[in-house]
Amino acid sequence: MFDHPSCNGHEQVLYCHDPDVGLRAIIAIHNTALGPAAGGCRMMPYTSADDALTDVLRLSEGMTLKNAMAGLPLGGGKCVIIADQNDPAKPDLLRAFSHHVQHLGGRFWTAIDVGVGPADAEILAEGCDYIFANSSRYEPGFSPATYTALGGFVSIQAAAEHRWGTPDLSGRRVAVQGLGAAGSGLAAHLHQAGASLVVADIRTDAVNRAVVEYGAVAVDPAEIHAQNVDIFAPCALGAVLNDTTISQLRAEVVCGLANNQLAEARHGQQLRDLAITYVPDYVANAGGISAAGAVIYDEDIRQRIERMRDTVLEVLGTADAQARPTSAVADDIARSRVAAGQS
Ligand code: NAD
Repeated sequence: MFDHPSCNGHEQVLYCHDPDVGLRAIIAIHNTALGPAAGGCRMMPYTSADDALTDVLRLSEGMTLKNAMAGLPLGGGKCVIIADQNDPAKPDLLRAFSHHVQHLGGRFWTAIDVGVGPADAEILAEGCDYIFANSSRYEPGFSPATYTALGGFVSIQAAAEHRWGTPDLSGRRVAVQGLGAAGSGLAAHLHQAGASLVVADIRTDAVNRAVVEYGAVAVDPAEIHAQNVDIFAPCALGAVLNDTTISQLRAEVVCGLANNQLAEARHGQQLRDLAITYVPDYVANAGGISAAGAVIYDEDIRQRIERMRDTVLEVLGTADAQARPTSAVADDIARSRVAAGQS
């Protein structure tokens, strides 16, 4: 564990097991210098416990950076439940898992993520006080994904302003990869702003909805990154910017909501070499956690999300001034904030 390639200063990793219901889960607390660790709960049928560990370690470190970058008094953590999201035992798995989060006594807060939706968060919250978006402080129906989508939209507008001198997206072509909780909300904002959409998802119902509601053009999921568009918005799973896909990109801007979009850190440099404006994933997808945090800390949600525009412009502007990858610049800003919290 201590020599795992993705173990990078993690404070605590907890394996959660309940053989009676078949629960196998991992909670990773990366850093609590700025506050309690916070990050979503992902349910996936990982092929091995090691795959799950790699995912949760990477995602939790990403949350440290995301929360620091968003200026939230929160550290970074994440949890994964090793199961199929359509498993009939899902409610039992969630209930069993929530007890492990409760036992951490507020050192770790969680929320929805891939495979765990708002209704699942309600189940988690039945026996646990540390579920973002599900406590008496949230309005009924509050969903972080709504604000993740809004934050992504604001980030795309800022990237457009940086790249083309205007945040106006009317007439822009945007390829959206993944139309789940976050991606479908982003597609709605883009459509409203007058962008034309090219979409892909492995779920045909989600694709059909976007075609009917937004006049989107549907393409093969394997081809979505290579479309002739202005903006590519990855909103499905990670590592979509890799040795194969980057050379096939035709978009000038990449800005989406998926976590860990770069397969490796060096791919940030590759995007810069190709003069592609890349908004680092955790800068663009901080809207949900920002909104969830704003409720807890009595702040105005919209103002918090609007501030994401300045963050995107700061990262993109600094990267140009320093001729460095945007991903490296964002990491520096976030790490310096965490270091300041540690001292
Ligand atoms: P989700 O499970 O609701 O949606 C993911 C979608 O991607 C699904 O519709 C799925 O069918 C689709 N998909 C899977 N593989 C695909 C492929 N190869 N090509 C195209 N589509 C594919 O999850 P979500 O909550 O929308 O999250 C999406 C991404 O955004 C994840 O990386 C997540 O970590 C990140 N994210 C989400 C939030 C949030 O508030 N939901 C916040 C921050 C980051």
